[in-house]
Amino acid sequence: MNSLYIHIPFCAKKCFYCDFYSIGYKKNLAAKLISTLSRQIGAANMYFDTIYIGGGTPSILEPQLLEKLLKSIKNISGKPKEFTIEANPESITNQKLSLFLKYGINRLSIGIQSFNDRKLARLGRIHSTQKAIDSIYMAWQNGFTNISVDLIFGIWEETLNEWKTELKMAISLPIKHISCYSLSYEKRTKLFTLLKNKKIKPQDDEIIAEMYEYAGDYLEKNKFIHYEISNFAKAGFECLHNINYWQNNSYVGLGPSAVSYQRGVRAKNMADVLKYIKMVENKLPAIVYKEKISPEKQARETAAIKIRTLEGIDFTWFKKRTGFDFVNLEGKNVTLLSRQGLLQYKKTNKKISGVALTKKGFLFCDSISAQFL
Ligand code: SF4
Repeated sequence: MNSLYIHIPFCAKKCFYCDFYSIGYKKNLAAKLISTLSRQIGAANMYFDTIYIGGGTPSILEPQLLEKLLKSIKNISGKPKEFTIEANPESITNQKLSLFLKYGINRLSIGIQSFNDRKLARLGRIHSTQKAIDSIYMAWQNGFTNISVDLIFGIWEETLNEWKTELKMAISLPIKHISCYSLSYEKRTKLFTLLKNKKIKPQDDEIIAEMYEYAGDYLEKNKFIHYEISNFAKAGFECLHNINYWQNNSYVGLGPSAVSYQRGVRAKNMADVLKYIKMVENKLPAIVYKEKISPEKQARETAAIKIRTLEGIDFTWFKKRTGFDFVNLEGKNVTLLSRQGLLQYKKTNKKISGVALTKKGFLFCDSISAQFL
């Protein structure tokens, strides 16, 4: 599978926890970027199985800019299997939703983050719970059947009961996919500074683990499959674009700060809209970093990403995908981790055919994944 990611780096306001590359919205600059991106898309001239427009806040663009971008994609892409756009509650309108549908977008990822007004304010979001709910219904009434939302848990002073109320709200809405992330304090964010200056106290690890376990059990009981460490979907609504990343397949990234991975080469675009436009328009590489990944490193990276999924790693699939024998490559780690109850062997016809995380392993996913690298 080949995927295309397009980064739209504009937001109405910087959220307090966010370290993605984004800047305040400027219409003229946005118009220039869309012209540059449209030309790049036209020149790419290749079929993509999945397309994802993320950011930033793509839905902040005026309808005519959105239409220009979407038209250029339609000209090259045929009909991708999955076409997602990210949108924020405050900038979703009926006009934009019908444009999305007109140009073949079949999945909407709404940046809800929380159904609790106090939490939304603490995260620096500009929408309210009511606005979040209204935006989901608006998308659904316009004809979106594949709606995903992001939720953050584990913020300071948040209680398990508050989190339970949010999950209850989520499953009552016409949503097919939920991504749940525990709050992390990234450098260069407002929350990191507040934490460093002891203005806020991070949530207790035990409560975070309890919240995560509760979400897993509750969502599974309500027919959401826990198919990746942070992701839950109704059957058939797993995100194909992310699955492509987790299989360590190739993707093209356009726009400032986007990453591409093609034929074993990883390259990151410069995180500066103006410079990005200038470089592309002058036919120069707009990248800040490029690395040729050795076949062994590619295999280890594949193991580290794929282990985060519910199905884990099938040895035959791994060999076919990477050319390496999983047990030879990661055998020592696997033995240790299975003794610790973090990994389990999977069997096909009574023979060991793969490994996957246990429930306990899901809680320590990041450190397990790092051991495979
Ligand atoms: S979290 Fe989303 S909306 Fe908030 S600043 Fe980051 S990219 Fe923009």
